Parts: sequence; structure tokens; C-alpha cells
Amino acid sequence: MAIIVQKYGGTSIGTVDKISLVADKIIVEKNNGNDVVVVVSAMSGETDKLHNLAKIINPEVKGRELDVLISTGEQVTISLLALTLVEKGYDAISLTGSQAGIITNNVFNKARIESINNSVIKNYLNSGKIVVVAGFQGVTEHGDITTLGRGGSDTSAVAISVALDAKECQIFTDVDGVYTTDPRISPGAKKIDHITSEEMLELSSQGSKVLQPRAVEFAGKYDVGIRVLSTFEDGTGTLISKDNKQVMEKAIISGIAFNKDEAQLTIRGVPDQPGIASLILGPIAERNIDVDMIVQNVGEDGLANFTFTVPRNDYKEAKKSLLESAKNFSAKKVIGNDKIVKISMVGVGMRTHAGIASKMFSVLAENNINISMISTSEIKISIVTDENNLDTAVNVLHKAFDLDK
Ligand code: ADP
Ligand code: ASP
Ligand code: MG
Repeated sequence: MAIIVQKYGGTSIGTVDKISLVADKIIVEKNNGNDVVVVVSAMSGETDKLHNLAKIINPEVKGRELDVLISTGEQVTISLLALTLVEKGYDAISLTGSQAGIITNNVFNKARIESINNSVIKNYLNSGKIVVVAGFQGVTEHGDITTLGRGGSDTSAVAISVALDAKECQIFTDVDGVYTTDPRISPGAKKIDHITSEEMLELSSQGSKVLQPRAVEFAGKYDVGIRVLSTFEDGTGTLISKDNKQVMEKAIISGIAFNKDEAQLTIRGVPDQPGIASLILGPIAERNIDVDMIVQNVGEDGLANFTFTVPRNDYKEAKKSLLESAKNFSAKKVIGNDKIVKISMVGVGMRTHAGIASKMFSVLAENNINISMISTSEIKISIVTDENNLDTAVNVLHKAFDLDK
């Protein structure tokens, strides 16, 4: 008997009617003779709603108590789905992360899964039950509830697939696969049939929220295929796997991702001397703030400008830290902008093709889009620009690089 792991995201189970539809899809797999494990998210909007409640008490809320709160959305949906399955005449059981034996480290709000005791789920499957597991959550070895970071149900599903040695992890969502860019921004976006884990990891890390980056990383590491599928339409979706001949022969650029969750900070007129970068970024790192893009340039007066991006949530705290550093080396000015977007073109084909960056910059220039930061790697080029340029930039790049063909 094959084990099938399916994950349903928030919009797929946003109402009791949709949960009934999902239950019917699960029942088809069960009737085909498979063992079915289902991972669910909270109903759409619920996790935000819970988080916003806590933010009324403390706008910068973090830590253990936040996880106790935001993990509850998934407890609602596991129960509703299990109840629905039972009502339809099928034996089902709901399990929280803790009940399913999902052990994480103790980094609250972005915990990492350390192990899964698969015997719990296996025993229930052996007794003929459909097992419904809460995504996004786990438990520390001391029994504290943790969550895996936003979008973390994807990672729960992949981890469970690995623990059960499932052939493929099916991620059901509100689009019918991974597209060359977010289809909600670009009507010309094209569905991709196969993509390598390497490219998908880069797309999700750069902001394509269709999959949590950690889920892709996990699947790549353990060589489990992920298939992204629509809950509402039939189709073959998108397969994400290690490598694949068809993937190797495809386009230079696989897709365009964007990230609106970052903010940019600049400290101007700092002395150009060894150690200055660490003096600026050290205090930021001590506050557990991740820095993404970094640019430093030196003016004729021997003073440097230092610009970097941080998660938008951490913008205020990072600015405070920077203002303190500014005093220490009598910098001229600190300026910040939290209305930016990072746009990235991703593709393994870029490795062997020169001129992608210059084409990208000229296309943006022709459309009057000002670039404030640039960073490149072997398989991606990212630029930062004003948030208002997002739609135009993505659409002109998508067209210029023939991604709509
Ligand atoms: P779920 O609630 O099912 O986890 P998400 O909202 O997390 O769903 O992810 C699905 C969304 O990801 C889509 O609705 C789409 O707007 C967005 N998205 C961003 N980039 C892409 C892309 N390249 N391909 C497909 N969807 C994308
Ligand atoms: N409910 C969580 C979130 O909204 C986890 C998920 O949906 O994957 O981030
Ligand atoms: Mg998601």
C-alpha cells in the first residue's frame, strides 16, 4: 500500500464547504487503496488575525507565548477536517504537531524540525485511519509548542513525507502549479511543468510564496519530489525534483520572484577604514536581525556610504541600532526606506549566459525604473526599487526575457 501525503493551504480550507470538497478528494485517494496523511494550514487569514491580536498588546511580540497563540489556527482545521471525514463515513483522526511526534528545536516563531517519531502516524495508518496532522507546528523536547515560520505547513508536509518515506509530497493550493512569476501580478505568467529544487529554492527564497523555502530545501536534501497542485482544478501541476533531463534543457531564466517584506537602510559618510562593516552590522546581528543585500561605496572625500536591507518587521529596530552606530563614528546621516521591493530573476541557465544582467538593467531603464541596489549570484540577479514599480518591472522583464512564450 502506498503512502500519500497531501497538504492543503489556507485558501483551500477557508470555509466548511471547501473542507467538504477537500474531504472528497482525500476519500478518492483512500478508496484507491492508499494510506493517506493530510497536513493542513489554518483557514486563510486566521494566522494573521491571531498575530494581530497579540500585536495590540506588544507591536513587536515574539517568542513562546506567540507560538501558543498562532499555532491554534491549525488545531481548528484538523478537527473540522477529521469531523467532516467521519461524517462522510471514513475513519479519521486529527493530530496536533506534538501528538504526531514532530520535535523541533526551541527557536520560537521559526523553529526547525529535529525529528519525527513516525510510529504514531504509522500505527494509525495501520489501523485504517486517515491521519490529519496540523501543519506549521511542533513541540520542543521540553513540551513547549513551537511554530515553523510563516508558510511552515509546507515544511511540515515535506518532513512528514520524508519520515514516512512517501514517494511524493502533494501541495494543494489556490494556483495549479508554480508559474514563471506570480500569476496575480503578471497575467502572462506561464505554468512550469518541472523545475529543479535548486531553482525552486532560489525562487522561494527570493519571495515566491507558493512554497516555503525551507520545505524546498528539506525536499532537496532528502530527495523527495514535491508536486504543487490546485485544490479546485484537475491537472498535473508542477513537479519539483532534484534534477531532471527536461529541466536541464530548458530556459535560461526559470522565473521572476519578488519580495515586498524588506526595507532598506543607509548610513552616510562613515570613515572608509577596516572593520567599519562589522561595526555597523555587528549590532544588527546581535539583535537577531538578518541582513540581506549589502552595498558599500566610497566617495571622493574618503567617506563611505553603507546600504543594506533587513526584513520589514525589523526595520524600526535596525534603524534604532544604526542611529546608535552613527553616533559612534560621527556618520553624516541615516536614511531608511521601507517602501521598497526586491525583484529577482532566477535560473541555472544564467551560469553560462553573459549579458543577462545588462539586459535586465537596460529594460528597466527604458521603462524609467530606478534601481537602488543590485546583487548577483551564479543563478540569480536581484535589484531593489520603489514598491510602486513592482507591477511594471515584473511585467516588462517577463516579456523581455520571453517568459510568456
Ligand atoms: P497556501 O495558502 O495554499 O499555502 P500561498 O498563498 O502560501 O497558498 O501560496 C500560493 C500563492 O503563491 C498563489 O496564490 C500566488 O499568488 C503566489 N505565488 C507567488 N509566486 C508564485 C509563482 N511563481 N507561481 C505560483 N504562485 C505564486
Ligand atoms: N498558517 C500558517 C501561516 O499562515 C502556516 C501556513 O499556512 O503554512 O503562515
Ligand atoms: Mg503557503
